[in-house]
Amino acid sequence: MRLIVVSNREPYRVEPSRGKVRLEKTVGGLVSALEPVLREYGGTWVCWGRKGKGPEELRINDRFLVKFVPLTSGDVSGYYYGFSNETLWPLCHMFLTKTHFNSSFWTAYRRVNRKFAKAVAEVYVPGSKILVNDYHLALVPQLLRDAGISDPIYLFWHIPFPPYFMMRFLPSRREILEGMLGSDVIGFHTQHYVENFLECVREILGAFSDNNTVYWNGRRIEVRAVPIGIDVERWERLAKDPKAVRYANNLRKRMGVEFIGVGVDRLDYTKGLEEKFRGIGRFFEKYPSFRGRVSFVQIAAPTRTKLEEYIDIKRRTDEIVGMIEGRFGEPGWVPIYYYYKNYPDERLVSLYMMADFALVTPIIDGLNLVSKEYVISKTDEDGVLIVSEFAGVSLQLREGAIIVNPFDEDEVAEAIYMALKMKRSERRERMRAMRIVVREKDIRWWVKEFLKDVSA
Ligand code: UDP
Repeated sequence: MRLIVVSNREPYRVEPSRGKVRLEKTVGGLVSALEPVLREYGGTWVCWGRKGKGPEELRINDRFLVKFVPLTSGDVSGYYYGFSNETLWPLCHMFLTKTHFNSSFWTAYRRVNRKFAKAVAEVYVPGSKILVNDYHLALVPQLLRDAGISDPIYLFWHIPFPPYFMMRFLPSRREILEGMLGSDVIGFHTQHYVENFLECVREILGAFSDNNTVYWNGRRIEVRAVPIGIDVERWERLAKDPKAVRYANNLRKRMGVEFIGVGVDRLDYTKGLEEKFRGIGRFFEKYPSFRGRVSFVQIAAPTRTKLEEYIDIKRRTDEIVGMIEGRFGEPGWVPIYYYYKNYPDERLVSLYMMADFALVTPIIDGLNLVSKEYVISKTDEDGVLIVSEFAGVSLQLREGAIIVNPFDEDEVAEAIYMALKMKRSERRERMRAMRIVVREKDIRWWVKEFLKDVSA
């Protein structure tokens, strides 16, 4: 099977370095998940070429080619920052008041989706499977159909899909749904998102659906709930690296506290960082005996830094971290170590390994790969995951995780207390249950399950 992956995000950033090019893997759930698949299975990845003047193609190995779609600055501001990140992103995450409706965004989105479809048609050879990714490219499946491609098209929507009562606000709701329905298979992380999608196509398009199948324009479209997995083998390898183990042990010693919590998020308003810090503040307020004994390490990776909402969330997060430091910190003890930076997996694995618990509190999150990475990095089967009930992953890990409502700061504080007080035997039992799920439902499972042939 020849695979063509289409996504906005490029799998590598190309950095010129002394006459050569250096490849740097980019940060984000999608790339962490799919890059290993193409390396292993081969194929073509069609994506946005960020550096306008960079190469048009990049050969990674003899089977894996990256094809860049050059975008103008007008494309980028209207399609990427505009329609994708100021319209669809907040709408799908139920932030209606942060959703900007603007017809020039929509014009740019349509134009760029056509550019992507054209680039796919150029590399397409009959007998391929085409995997289109995410909300940036909702129109591509139907555009490929219109271009006469009859091979199976799969579309995976990596973020939540909103219910009809949110989707109906979008002026271009019909076109978005019709674009998606050019696929043969549409995937979401959870059955909730599937139900939302089915409700939208029924209510907005008048399409007929039966179980997880949509009947539209004489075609049959399967809708699947297949939560994405991580590259378990790679994370286990990283966790066994003696350098990573040494770094984790040294760091833990240097921090000099009994307990360490970790959080790793892009600094996005959906990730619930303010709620997390409020919960941590509440914890130190309710349980003063833990002051000086617990520290949190929070990575907040910069993202979409040009948008006002993101500048705003950075300011508010800085403020609340400062408030907690000021209120609870003492000379010799830091309650929250906060880093506004991107870290490579090799460093993240050590942070996961050294932490007694991970605190993952998104307000709403399509899935959340960090939770799975934390679980698989705990090779000693000891550690506690506290996760928001509004992250898709909470459905998969509910046997082992402590599930919280991030808006309830008392509940977050209690969850931290429970994690610190939990007996080793219970920690192990819960962690084992989660590790089984993460290992079984890894990225290879996802690829097989989601890209299964369409049933006759
Ligand atoms: N990540 C990273 N470096 C960082 C922060 C995050 O490599 O400094 C990675 C993290 O390991 C995970 C991904 O970014 O694989 C985040 O995926 P998740 O599903 O948790 O959230 P998303 O950012 O896709 O909304």
